[in-house]
Amino acid sequence: MADVLEITPQAAEAVETQQTTDGFHLVIDALKLNDIDTIFGLVGIPITDLARLAQAEGMRFIGFRHEQHAGNAAAIAGYMTKKPGICLTVSAPGFLNGLTALANATTNCFPMILISGSSEREIVDLQQGDYEEMDQLNAAKPYAKAAYRVLHAEDIGIGVARAIRAAVSGRPGGVYLDLPAKLLAQTIDAVKAQQSLIRVIDAAPAQFPGPESVKRALDVLKGAKRPLILLGKGAAYAQADAEIRALVEKTGIPYLPMSMAKGLLPDTHAQSASAARSFVLAEADVVLLIGARLNWLLSHGKGKTWGAPKKFIQVDISPTEIDSNVAIAAPVIGDIGSCVTALLGGIDANFPKPPAEWTNAITERKNKNLAKMAATLDKNPSPMNFHSALRAIRDVLKERPDINVVNEGANTLDYARSIIDMYQPRKRFDSGTWGIMGIGMGFAIGAAVTSGTQVVAIEGDSAFGFSGMELETICRYDLPVCTIVFNNNGVYRGTDVNPTGGKDVAPTVFVKNARYDKMIEAFGGIGYHATTPEELTKALQEAIASGKPTLINAVIDEAAGTESGRLTNLNPQSAAMKK
Ligand code: ADP
Repeated sequence: MADVLEITPQAAEAVETQQTTDGFHLVIDALKLNDIDTIFGLVGIPITDLARLAQAEGMRFIGFRHEQHAGNAAAIAGYMTKKPGICLTVSAPGFLNGLTALANATTNCFPMILISGSSEREIVDLQQGDYEEMDQLNAAKPYAKAAYRVLHAEDIGIGVARAIRAAVSGRPGGVYLDLPAKLLAQTIDAVKAQQSLIRVIDAAPAQFPGPESVKRALDVLKGAKRPLILLGKGAAYAQADAEIRALVEKTGIPYLPMSMAKGLLPDTHAQSASAARSFVLAEADVVLLIGARLNWLLSHGKGKTWGAPKKFIQVDISPTEIDSNVAIAAPVIGDIGSCVTALLGGIDANFPKPPAEWTNAITERKNKNLAKMAATLDKNPSPMNFHSALRAIRDVLKERPDINVVNEGANTLDYARSIIDMYQPRKRFDSGTWGIMGIGMGFAIGAAVTSGTQVVAIEGDSAFGFSGMELETICRYDLPVCTIVFNNNGVYRGTDVNPTGGKDVAPTVFVKNARYDKMIEAFGGIGYHATTPEELTKALQEAIASGKPTLINAVIDEAAGTESGRLTNLNPQSAAMKK
């Protein structure tokens, strides 16, 4: 239901002075009316004035060098706040650049709205060849949760309201809003305009699970001999931190966080089974999934990874997620806050605790694996490798659990995910559901702008390359972002050679001994060059203390790193070539 708007003082004044307004103003008014205060984007025809006006009207406009990164910033802002992040782009190519981020947001269930200017419908539909002509609405549809176009200024309020609702209600996702140039320039009576705006009420309503589904889930859980809770980023997004912690602690069930759910409970929590991941996935008999999908990241819930037959309980807001990979014995459909609260209602002092045989076996595995990992981390090879560099970073970040961590790469992602502990919810942002590269600087900027606090981006040198030019954006807005580039001279590593002996280097190889730290200096930021864990520690401590835009070029052994990180199984061709 929408608010019935009173005539505002501005509208009353407009009546007196017979004022008109236009599409530009109405878009800004509609966003502001819904408490949206930041736009991430890149200006050009036809939206430059929209950006100028947003700033003039008190919104923040954060301008990027490429739309994909503006879109990623918007998406991560949406994930952090449960409000849709807004990305603004020009038509055709700018829109397409932003579309990658929109698709990634939809895939990851992050709420965002991509707003793009577009060419005139009459010309696009007759394919008469307009400036940057493209049927953007239809191009966006397969990659967005919803897509809308507004043709009349008096519909802008409705267009924005529909976009907000679609982005945050149910399973969150990316929404496309198409604004043709002509619409933005349309004038309309100011009073009529004010009355056409909608303040969205209860955009993401609570969705309560059916009592029978809760009972069924509790019954399955009660029967478990080797139960496991698996927390996904949906659980982190839901901001039901206290309820989730209570469920884990009251049941005493061991839990595993997916990468972006790390920190929902501190990684050092006694019930965390992260260090015995393979063991618990294979051995558990009942798995309670909370906001996590059984996709490729969880081997689709079957095969060797999952070992012994098991029953799944799945808590999710999307009913069609259920049975998507394997049969789910007990689906619990609703928002995570409501579902976990309902489950907690059935857990009293008599609820069976997981057998000691199970929890002891996990502790034993954990201790063994942790000791093995500690030995690896304690080594000090020269040159520095992934482990010794990450040990240095881990120890600095332990002192600052409030810091936002962005992480991408192949080996840099795989190793950092298990070595860098997280202590607070929604502080880790990474390659996510697609496992993509290129989110780094966009997520870092989005997280810094949204939180106003320090970000440390741990980047593989290849991954960093996708968004490196946004260092200028970081410097321009003087953001507290420290980027650490794990520089091993190439994709995966820097030692491949061209088998023909020809002049071109191997496909995976970069310029040797590149100085990424010099890049940030070009824009007034502070660069560091670190070749040992000690230098890396000192640089990171200084960088964080400065609160300035900084970049550490961390030189890693170019022979360190495995092909495709841990995804060798997804790269059969390469494995075959190596034989
Ligand atoms: P991960 O990659 O961490 O395993 P996924 O992105 O695969 O996490 O899963 C997130 C799941 O959480 C999605 O299935 C989504 O529908 C669900 N989800 C997102 N927000 C909520 C919410 N507020 N309540 C319930 N489920 C949610």
